Amino acid sequence: MNTHSTAEQLSTREIQALDSAHFIHPFTDHGDLATRGARVITRSDGIYIWDSEGEKLLDAMSGLWCVNAGYGRKALAEAAYEQMMTLPFYNSFFQTTNVPAVKLATRLAALAPKVGDRSFEHVFFSSSGSESNDSNVRMVRRYWDLLGQPQRKVIISRHNAYHGSTMAGASLGGMSGMHAQGDLPIPNITHIGQPYFFEDGKPGETADAFGVRAAGWLEDKILEVGPDKVAAFIAEPIQGAGGVIIPPATYWPEIQRIVDKYGILLISDEVICAFGRLGHWFAYERFGYKPDLVTFAKAVTSGYIPLGGVMVGNRVAKVLIEQGGEFNHGYTYSGHPVACAVALANLDIMEAEQLPQRVRGEMGDYFAKRFLALKDHPLVGDAETCGFVAGLVLVKNKQTKQRFNPDDAVGMICRGHCFRNGLIMRAVGDRMIIAPPLTMTHADIDELLRLIHQALDLTQADLHQKGLI
Ligand code: PMP
Repeated sequence: MNTHSTAEQLSTREIQALDSAHFIHPFTDHGDLATRGARVITRSDGIYIWDSEGEKLLDAMSGLWCVNAGYGRKALAEAAYEQMMTLPFYNSFFQTTNVPAVKLATRLAALAPKVGDRSFEHVFFSSSGSESNDSNVRMVRRYWDLLGQPQRKVIISRHNAYHGSTMAGASLGGMSGMHAQGDLPIPNITHIGQPYFFEDGKPGETADAFGVRAAGWLEDKILEVGPDKVAAFIAEPIQGAGGVIIPPATYWPEIQRIVDKYGILLISDEVICAFGRLGHWFAYERFGYKPDLVTFAKAVTSGYIPLGGVMVGNRVAKVLIEQGGEFNHGYTYSGHPVACAVALANLDIMEAEQLPQRVRGEMGDYFAKRFLALKDHPLVGDAETCGFVAGLVLVKNKQTKQRFNPDDAVGMICRGHCFRNGLIMRAVGDRMIIAPPLTMTHADIDELLRLIHQALDLTQADLHQKGLI
């Protein structure tokens, strides 16, 4: 078989056979994949993708939470082409720099709100969210070393958090399935509970009271570890991969109070939530807290090319950059000129089309109104949105909120119905989640909700037939 052919020249079966023979996919059971064959995605436009059989799917996950500006953006392809023809690569190690990286760092610093020593004037670049969180671990440790407190090594994170798949990223994350493979977490990373009110709220407890209680687990952990040993707390503004867990309004202010009380650094992992997803350039603006470090990736280029990084707040930058001498850390692709040029063109689009403003304005309200109406569906125990992120939980009994047995894999059943009927919606256990492109119109939102309703109805009929409801 001529494997140099394009996808169009190979049949779907041929591609699937080559895929199984050679391509190791992320987070995939390959035995299972070999029996069904991967769905081959071949092209895209706007909010839609198509597979090799010509089936059209509304991509309500924006790829993997990243295609915020939607597919088919010629300006991004042109920016990459121009930059590749001018300077496709040069490193930024040996006292050299490149114009797109300088411009992007300057622009990102300008986009971040100015709040004293929590302002952001510096940016470190990587190629992904995972690498950026590895960089965070190194920066945080270096910071405390430079301040003469090398014993401050412990980073506190949360169960069910996702911070990437490298050794440090997976350790910072709180996914037990990941920890179980390869002796993770690495030392000096520890976890507290997540603020999941639907699951952990006590009978009669308000969401606000729960938010304060859940934040209090951080203080308990700091006292358990020893306040002088804690370096930082890392958290996603909203837990994305964990199933779109949106904290109660009281959670973040209480977290801020606690990190301030003990002087520990706050890392906001905004790999999903930045760049308009929650209606702001950076998600901490939405919740009003003040991080020292902000992890970003994904939508900085709308996923058109890999790029990630860390916004380094002035409190850390002052020590690390102004007093620290050489920091022995960096990647070949830190400040890659093509990735940075694409990011600049992407930010141009987001600014021109006011994508963050759309999300926090009328379009976001319309999306929330339509999505929250799903609470009336017999299978839905709860539904929540924040900006253009939304999640619902499938329940066996709506009145008692009785959950399904995890072995019933209801989320996967529902996802199957979505997939077969033109919709990409993700399942996390019994939670169904979406994060659509920020370009959605009213008509797109209507179509999205029609597809979700259809999938829920089909799931309900299926579960009935299986005797599960
Ligand atoms: N942090 C968060 C919050 C994420 O959602 C992700 C990816 N989904 C990562 C880090 C890791 O990013 P990457 O896959 O680019 O390494």
